[in-house]
Amino acid sequence: MQSSNKFNHTTQIVGVMGHPIKHSYSPLMHNISFEILNLNYIYLPFDVTVTNLKTALKGMVALGIKGVNVTLPLKEKIGQYLNEVSDEAGIVGAVNTVVNENGNLHGYNTDVHGIIETIAPFRDEINGQTVTVIGAGGAARGVLYALIKEFKPEKINIVNRTADKAESLKEYFISKMLFENIYAYELLPPDLVGLFSDSKMIINSTSIGMSPDIDDAPTTIPESFHKDQIVFDVVYTPLKTKMLEIAESQGALALNGLKMFVEQGAKSFELWTEQLMPKEKIFKTLKSYMEA
Ligand code: NAP
Repeated sequence: MQSSNKFNHTTQIVGVMGHPIKHSYSPLMHNISFEILNLNYIYLPFDVTVTNLKTALKGMVALGIKGVNVTLPLKEKIGQYLNEVSDEAGIVGAVNTVVNENGNLHGYNTDVHGIIETIAPFRDEINGQTVTVIGAGGAARGVLYALIKEFKPEKINIVNRTADKAESLKEYFISKMLFENIYAYELLPPDLVGLFSDSKMIINSTSIGMSPDIDDAPTTIPESFHKDQIVFDVVYTPLKTKMLEIAESQGALALNGLKMFVEQGAKSFELWTEQLMPKEKIFKTLKSYMEA
């Protein structure tokens, strides 16, 4: 952290709004970056509920707060209060970054960038193949948008605990992005072993397996996975979720959510400061912090 005597009348304030907020690693990531680059910024956590959101945004403008990240449960609610929302955030239906431009609030979705950067090295493997996305919340919407826009899977399966939500997400992406080869399923692991194992890539975009529920996984059936697969979990606490542990034991290539987290943060950082986050250093720092 910067020492307090560094802050003065030119210090710019950014932060994260959400509820609850105390477990976020974003303050650590951004404040270390400001310190490394010697930028006169501070990143603070703001505990904001849905009820207080509109007032909090008015306060943000009144106080000249430069920008915020937005997390649960506000990502899908905040768009209506902003002056402008990027095309990407509009289609995804979720905003995770707000920039205050002289009192005008602009919304972006940098999770999409984090997802693209994480799976870009596997572009050729995914091209023309089946990808299964577990989840139908904000993260899943970002994953579906990124897959359809940037990669060329032949087919996408959406699997979710609440089948209706998977079904409406399917219809939404068919109509919004004109991707027809998309199917919805309820998350019933014994019935889905074949669907999982026929997928070149499986992406968990739910909170299943996130600390403290580290023994949970979307499927614990080892035959869901095999050595020719890429398995990506958006969760990064713990770094190796139960799902990734099982997938790796079957020979699959496992990707955790830390790269996505750093990349989405780096994009937000760039939107606020017009500087590049020192990503490699931040990635290593967060990884050792989480492994400690
Ligand atoms: P969300 O909108 O609340 O959606 C949650 C999803 O998880 C829904 O599909 C929900 O299913 C499912 N789910 C939750 N608990 C479940 C359980 N016990 N069993 C089965 N399904 C369950 O949340 P979100 O914004 O999409 O976030 C999802 C995860 O992504 C979180 O862990 C978040 O930390 C992570 N994330 C990571 C990054 C990163 O940078 N790595 C960025 C964004 C989010 P139902 O529809 O049935 O409720």
